[in-house]
Amino acid sequence: MTLNFELPKLVRELKKRKPKKVLVQLPEGIKQNAAEISGAIEKLGIKVIFSGETAWGGCALALQEAEALKVDLIVHFGHAEFIKTKFPVLYIEVRDELDLKPILEKSLKKIEKFKTLGLSYSIQHRHDVEMIKEFYEKRGKKIILSKKIGFAAYEGHVIGCEYRGLKAIEKDVDAFLIIGNQFHSMGAALAVEKPVVLVDVYNDDVKSMDGLREKILKQRAISIQKLKDAKDVGIIIEIKPGQKFGEPKYLVEKLKEKGKNAIVITMNELTPEKIMNFYHIDAFIELACPRVAVDDFAKYSKPILTFKEALVALGIKSWEEFLEKGIV
Ligand code: SF4
Repeated sequence: MTLNFELPKLVRELKKRKPKKVLVQLPEGIKQNAAEISGAIEKLGIKVIFSGETAWGGCALALQEAEALKVDLIVHFGHAEFIKTKFPVLYIEVRDELDLKPILEKSLKKIEKFKTLGLSYSIQHRHDVEMIKEFYEKRGKKIILSKKIGFAAYEGHVIGCEYRGLKAIEKDVDAFLIIGNQFHSMGAALAVEKPVVLVDVYNDDVKSMDGLREKILKQRAISIQKLKDAKDVGIIIEIKPGQKFGEPKYLVEKLKEKGKNAIVITMNELTPEKIMNFYHIDAFIELACPRVAVDDFAKYSKPILTFKEALVALGIKSWEEFLEKGIV
């Protein structure tokens, strides 16, 4: 993996914006590169502080830290813009400079029966998208990039909580190809009914996601039933600015109408330890990252659901509508 931190862009933007002090956010995988990034910023006479909090997505802008520390700018690495904010933010997307040709070659066998493919990539591969398209088109495939809808910053861009851009082209493609990792392809497999193939550039593997959708949906149906049976419910909200997936007040009202007790719990980041001591709660609904409920449910001793799943449990949405609109 050769990461390009786009330091020339960083320096150019900092010279233009002239901040005195910046807060830098790095995703977990690149926190180890803090010294290199710090050096490039300090050389310009700018004070730099690194956030030690997690930054799994562009949703996790450290606005509160930035205000508390009185910095002039947040420099957020590794993600594209997710939401608009009044506070100034500089996004450095970070390129992963890999020779993708061998794995694209390897993918041909897995996709041989498909003629038209929907293509999506995680942000680190955006600079390669034209090459990838050309590669497949030269080999007789038709490539359609997923649409830029919702939180997606570009055509073809995929993030873990936004698959409407894939659903928009589903009727026109035979299958989807995801360039990135398991996280994005699993979300895609849950969102669309057409086959999904992952070109896993990090594990040098090409995998079909067949069967995964059914397996996860079965598990989600069990969690939905558990919320139906629950007496005491905890609604978890996070303070990360982009993680507002649902309205807690509305849920409390609806839960109470069903004769349940509901409390709202706030936290910076949901972890199993943080909810452990709410012994009396039978089920949790989390309005933060929907992928926590879907991907990490096994880490939690109590059922944990997304907002959309809660609407199904409460009879506000049907299971069919839930599947139709995409479950994350
Ligand atoms: S909400 Fe979750 S999936 Fe969406 S960007 Fe944030 S961390 Fe990623």
